[in-house]
Amino acid sequence: MTETLTALPASVREVFQTVVARNPHEPEFQQAVHEVLVSIAPVLDEHPQFVDGGILERIVEPERQIMFRVPWVDDAGRLQVNRGYRVQFSSVLGPYKGGLRFHPSVNLSIVKFLGFEQIFKNALTGQGIGGAKGGSDFDPHGRSDAEVMRFCQSFMSELYRHLGEHTDVPAGDIGVGAREIGYLFGQYRKITNRHESGMFTGKGVQWGGAEVRTEATGYGAVFFAEEMLRIHRRSLEGLRVSVSGSGNVAIYAIDKAWQLGATPVTASDSSGYVVDDDGIDVALLRQVKEQERARISEYAARRPNARFVDGARPWEVPVDVAIPSATQNELDESDARALIDNGVRAVAEGANMPSTPGAVAALQGAGVLFGPGKAANAGGVATSALEMSQNASRQRWSFSDSERKLRSIMKDVHDAAFEAADRYGHGGDYVVGANSAGFERVAHAMLAQGVI
Ligand code: GLU
Repeated sequence: MTETLTALPASVREVFQTVVARNPHEPEFQQAVHEVLVSIAPVLDEHPQFVDGGILERIVEPERQIMFRVPWVDDAGRLQVNRGYRVQFSSVLGPYKGGLRFHPSVNLSIVKFLGFEQIFKNALTGQGIGGAKGGSDFDPHGRSDAEVMRFCQSFMSELYRHLGEHTDVPAGDIGVGAREIGYLFGQYRKITNRHESGMFTGKGVQWGGAEVRTEATGYGAVFFAEEMLRIHRRSLEGLRVSVSGSGNVAIYAIDKAWQLGATPVTASDSSGYVVDDDGIDVALLRQVKEQERARISEYAARRPNARFVDGARPWEVPVDVAIPSATQNELDESDARALIDNGVRAVAEGANMPSTPGAVAALQGAGVLFGPGKAANAGGVATSALEMSQNASRQRWSFSDSERKLRSIMKDVHDAAFEAADRYGHGGDYVVGANSAGFERVAHAMLAQGVI
């Protein structure tokens, strides 16, 4: 990683070297910082005040990091201890905002990379939200509802003191869906004696949640792909699409791909992927993954023309558009080459940092339209901001109004990234565009608010 930095001014190189020295065991965090620092060089050239004002030194250091013990008792009466995290990265544009992830892979490096990306993603939406992320190494998979509830209650018993509608507003992420958000919100309400709707997003629509929030990340990623194609006078109509994952993002990316005339042909989980040339049956996928919480092979077992491929990722399947929607670093350089060889035209990241740096370089080098997660998956957090607006004004917008707003936000996000890439001499490079447009907004606000 350090080699590519030699082209940069010494001040930027030093910032990255300090990040590596200070955070030696955090490869994902280093990867996320590296990607941003490399791509914003033209912004720094044009705005020396950002370098002089110490924006870089400050932005790579979270405003606050919280780590805490989460003890709970399982159904067998045994004591379990997990670790909880909340990294409050930047509140310069608004209250801290970002999801909670419950997954055994969660550690400080993962939470910090996600929190760092969230700053720029949220800035790009233009909605006045800061950046944060949190979670735990707790694995909800295979746990009873009662165990999940006890875990969530213990988690919130510590985290509540750091939250609030004007302070920090969490939401879901991997492993944190409607069930977990309900338990977390309930415990916050009990401890604080406040029904503070605006302190959490992704709530049930019956108790303050927003229409389309569940669908928003997946829908948004497909809208983003549509915008990228539109620039080249193409549409999604008739295209084959591969999607990885089978959680919230993947399910609704598949759903929207169908609605826009494409055929989504894959879905996956950590055990392997399914390919269905008839197109993925969304209802069956939801039944298997959401209702039964079963493995993805179950889907193939119930569909005549579907095939389960054990232990592999879906990138070997020939498609026109790929939407990685599972997790970080799930699409590497050889996956990218397989996609390119099969003629892929566009990749839109539904997950956070799913493509490795080698994959991004290969895709962009081959002229594939590449929408990085910071832009392509911003629909989720953007709709969270719509939920906060509705909570603050005690309004409820209809599904169709909310979807229209989401679509127009995704167009704005696309256009902001496209325009910034052009302005900085990297036309068509959405990585440079998204990072530059997000960074500019944050950096101007940091300068205006002084050294804090
Ligand atoms: N976890 C989602 C993301 O990565 C959503 C965050 C939110 O809605 O606050 O952006």
